[in-house]
Amino acid sequence: MLEKESFKLVVEAIEQLEMGFQGLPEFNSSFELDNLRNVLLEVATRMQDNFPYPHPLYVGQMLKPPHPIARLAYTLSLWINPNNHALDGGRASTIMEKEAVNEIAQMFGWKIHLGHLCGGGTMANLEALWVAGKVKPGLKIVASQQSHYTHERICSVLGIPFVAVKSDRQGRMNLDALKTLLAAGDIGTVVVTMGTTATGSVDPLPEILELQSQYNFRIHADAAYGGYFTLANNLDTKTRAAFDCLKAVDSIVIDPHKHGLQPYGCGCVIFQDPKVGSFYKHECPFTYFTSDELHLGEISLECSRPGASAVALWATQRLLPYTKEGQFATELSKSRKAALTLFEKIQGDDRFLIAFPPELDIVVWTPRATSASAASEIAKKIFASSAQKNLHLAIANLPVEFFINIGAEMKLDQDYLTCLRSCLMKPEHFDWVDDIWQLLQHATDQV
Ligand SMILES: *Cc1c(COP(=O)(O)O)cnc(C)c1O
Repeated sequence: MLEKESFKLVVEAIEQLEMGFQGLPEFNSSFELDNLRNVLLEVATRMQDNFPYPHPLYVGQMLKPPHPIARLAYTLSLWINPNNHALDGGRASTIMEKEAVNEIAQMFGWKIHLGHLCGGGTMANLEALWVAGKVKPGLKIVASQQSHYTHERICSVLGIPFVAVKSDRQGRMNLDALKTLLAAGDIGTVVVTMGTTATGSVDPLPEILELQSQYNFRIHADAAYGGYFTLANNLDTKTRAAFDCLKAVDSIVIDPHKHGLQPYGCGCVIFQDPKVGSFYKHECPFTYFTSDELHLGEISLECSRPGASAVALWATQRLLPYTKEGQFATELSKSRKAALTLFEKIQGDDRFLIAFPPELDIVVWTPRATSASAASEIAKKIFASSAQKNLHLAIANLPVEFFINIGAEMKLDQDYLTCLRSCLMKPEHFDWVDDIWQLLQHATDQV
């Protein structure tokens, strides 16, 4: 199941890397290979206790295997172990980070920007909301009920008041609810989720931008999950329209470790206005941030960071550029196609209720039952029965409102439904959709 062929390239590449350090006196770190082997094989055995994330029959949580090039480049760079906090810690990898982040900014249509990589979407959003609080002091931050829970928690860390905006029945921000909140005049920032974590729903950005001219708030786009779908060629009209105006927002967060084929530890935050860099410094003038010699540590809340993440992302972009016709984009479109295919199969089966078609590549559905609690119980059983057949789904609790409109004569004895959820993130998922569906049917028959 695990690809090994590509690993041979690492030794060749280490030798190439080593040629950059010729002329130094010989030295060798001392260790007993046998001791390493014993421990390493013990680790391998321990690691067997995992779901088979890289396999296409793992179709549960947001887990996408890193591309081999990302794995290799990351591993290679560990022989140097650069720290992208400062140029002294990693000259080459700092430059590669700036280039890689620039590729992301260009993908969203930003020529000028300020940004960097960080540990993940949480850190990236923390920075974006910290800056939002500086730009709009004393004002509230709002995000939809279906936004990632990290926003409320981050606001509590930052001491910024947070309000959740009601979601509609498709998991998007409800515009009327937003308008009501804006009318009070104390909203500084609206967080727009470009692909919610639970259902991949995309908030109505074009309409929110229209409100901005009236109410003058800042917009932060949390595109941690969905950001790369801006490259897909098969989004529905409304979703496409939201991505097409993404460049009008003030800040964007995207997780290369979600859909960007990177190992964990790779998030990214970018700001449209480079002047926000001044908030990171106590006494530094704005002009500093136009210097080519910028140390990334001076525009980042985190200090030490793995240069390896930047190297891996840079290498992946080199192999699979972010172009609309390229392989990277085609594979994202394929993920959405896989999700639409699974959606249609589930919709055609009376035993299931499915709320709405996937906007990106996440499908959520629930068994048809007499009550919300009964449906939830059956969902959990199907989840377990599928796992026994090597089909690994996920479960999620979603508001019952998502399912009210679709003829579900279900007693609403609780306000949420435990649903089955699938993230069809791997390009291979499209080719495996029939197998996935068959296994799901068997599991359901059994339950
Ligand atoms: C995953 C996710 C986050 C949190 O990012 P991490 O990388 O897990 O820290 C935030 N927002 C959204 C929309 C996400 O999908």
